Amino acid sequence: MDRYSEIYRHSVDEPESFWRAEAAAIDWQAPFTRVLDDDAAPLSRWFVGGTTNLCHNAVDRHLATRSSQVALIYVSTETGIERTYTYRDLFDEVNRVAAMLVAEGVGRGDRVLLYLPMVPEALFAMLACTRIGAIHSVVFGGFASSSLATRIDDARPTVILSADAGSRAGRVVPYKPLLDAALELAGHRPSRVVLLDRGLASMTRVDGRDVDWATLRDEHFDARVPCVWLESSEPSYILYTSGTTGIPKGVQRDTGGHAVALVASMRYIFDPAAFDGTVDPVSGRRTFFAASDIGWVVGHCYIVYAPLLCGMASLMYEGLPIRGMDGEADPGIWWSLVARHRVNAMFTAPTAIRVLKKQDPSHLTRHDLSSLDALFLAGEPLDEPTARWIAEGIGKPILDNYWQTETGWPMLSTQRGIDPSMEPRFGSPGKPVVGFRLKLLDEASNAEVGANRKGVLVIEAPLPPGCMSTVWGDDRRFVETYWSLLADRSVYSTFDWGIRDDDGYWFILGRTDDVINVAGHRLGTREIEESISGHAAIAETAVVGVADALKGQVPIAFAIVRDPVSIATPADRLRLEGEVMATVDRSLGALARPARVHFVPTLPKTRSGKMLRRALQAVCEGRDPGDLATIEDPTALEHVRIALGPPFP
Ligand code: AMP
Repeated sequence: MDRYSEIYRHSVDEPESFWRAEAAAIDWQAPFTRVLDDDAAPLSRWFVGGTTNLCHNAVDRHLATRSSQVALIYVSTETGIERTYTYRDLFDEVNRVAAMLVAEGVGRGDRVLLYLPMVPEALFAMLACTRIGAIHSVVFGGFASSSLATRIDDARPTVILSADAGSRAGRVVPYKPLLDAALELAGHRPSRVVLLDRGLASMTRVDGRDVDWATLRDEHFDARVPCVWLESSEPSYILYTSGTTGIPKGVQRDTGGHAVALVASMRYIFDPAAFDGTVDPVSGRRTFFAASDIGWVVGHCYIVYAPLLCGMASLMYEGLPIRGMDGEADPGIWWSLVARHRVNAMFTAPTAIRVLKKQDPSHLTRHDLSSLDALFLAGEPLDEPTARWIAEGIGKPILDNYWQTETGWPMLSTQRGIDPSMEPRFGSPGKPVVGFRLKLLDEASNAEVGANRKGVLVIEAPLPPGCMSTVWGDDRRFVETYWSLLADRSVYSTFDWGIRDDDGYWFILGRTDDVINVAGHRLGTREIEESISGHAAIAETAVVGVADALKGQVPIAFAIVRDPVSIATPADRLRLEGEVMATVDRSLGALARPARVHFVPTLPKTRSGKMLRRALQAVCEGRDPGDLATIEDPTALEHVRIALGPPFP
């Protein structure tokens, strides 16, 4: 048996012995009494009885050996700001935020909602929450008021932390009006809103509710707040993600399992060198650059927790991949940061690489990339031409890895920390990651399929440490959503199709449900449909994800109007299309805006009334819609073809 197979088998055949050893990588205040408690399966708990603290492990425990080592490098090409913080600085800043939260009455188990742009304060605040045992819930800064309101009502935060504005491509995006509108819509009222003033947009403050971040920071400048030791399975955070229903799910992560899994992911996948004492010869440390946003799971795990848990420096970046510090176009900005800060491993989404691919390729070779070991890509399918282009362009291993917000770390990956000779294969995210008992089940019979046969990708219970513990406040929804494929609830469904080749490489073939992936961001088509239906002129709508060369997929909407007179002329259609897009912008944010809204007289449905989304999607992509035996009105797809117009030559 090769080394990978040996270690993988040990991890899934004897999970308790495997994870007991991994757990030694973090500090425990009190040791755990059981590695795994599966009594209430599929709800499982890891490292039961052990007490620990994420912030202690990410910050305090490094002070003895790394207090003057850089912990955070912050670069914003939006504001032209660059700052570095040592572990000592980080400790001071986190304590200030922790003290201000405690002073506002936040305690163990209370929620703190962060609606913040990519600023260092966001990272300090996340760590401050975990320091005091509060549960953070970061909402992506680009989300519109009603999405934010839904999350406020579900998480019921004691305090909300926000800012005057974000910035995108040099354009200021005011956050405060969005937050105020969300608080108008929400039923829940936080006791306090703390506002960071970046000097980007003016803010009106609500007396008695809104307070200034900088003032509180000054008040608590010299504060020291002890870590609150949590039982391993107490929640560290909630992160909302889209599913097939319009109601987002709060993915709940534990504390101990999360820390242990992230360290294991660095050791086996992202930066094995950091574990044999290797440091960069120039910087004297290891530096990790995850070009993502703290509003997404990659940001939580690989901008904030994993690099800091491992004593590395994390590079946090606000801005586009193609714009420099002076605001001028610079497709080499990321590579210049890799060179200047001696980045050892980098992580982003394939969409970012497809954006770079449109630029003059000379930017790939202009900077010294000698520090970089590998570039990791995840979040959406990595197409082979993009993978080859970037592999050849920077001359580094390109390591695709597959996971979900729910799993919290990769399920499929090349694991060089287990076997340095493990080679990636184009088109495949790799092999099952240690701890994940992955299987492919036949759609009809639910029996396990062999090599080269497509199946639904599932994880056999128990989920390894670091995966979601439940849906926030709704264990039943967790079980019913993810564990319904088999009657005995023994497998977790990823809702992805997969296939495995004869050599044990796995491939992801797309979603089994109505979730689409736009530029690495997950959107539920049902959510977009609900938003469009909110426009008074629309009677019915169907949204599908259609292949797009840049973003992977884009949402395309088909809609039936209540009154055909409203789209009598081409100008009317254009106006209504714009209005529908604006409706989606307002309720879900620009990310979910359909690329086109086509008006049709009927929509393709089965006789039982189920929307034939796969057929609709196939027609949009110029593919054969397949078996249409169940379609109620065969002319519906003809109308779709007419609406789409002639294919481009
Ligand atoms: P999210 O939770 O938003 O990160 O979305 C997770 C979904 O993105 C997965 O269920 C997959 O459909 C898709 N996905 C993530 N990583 C990959 C990958 N490396 N290759 C293909 N699809 C991926």
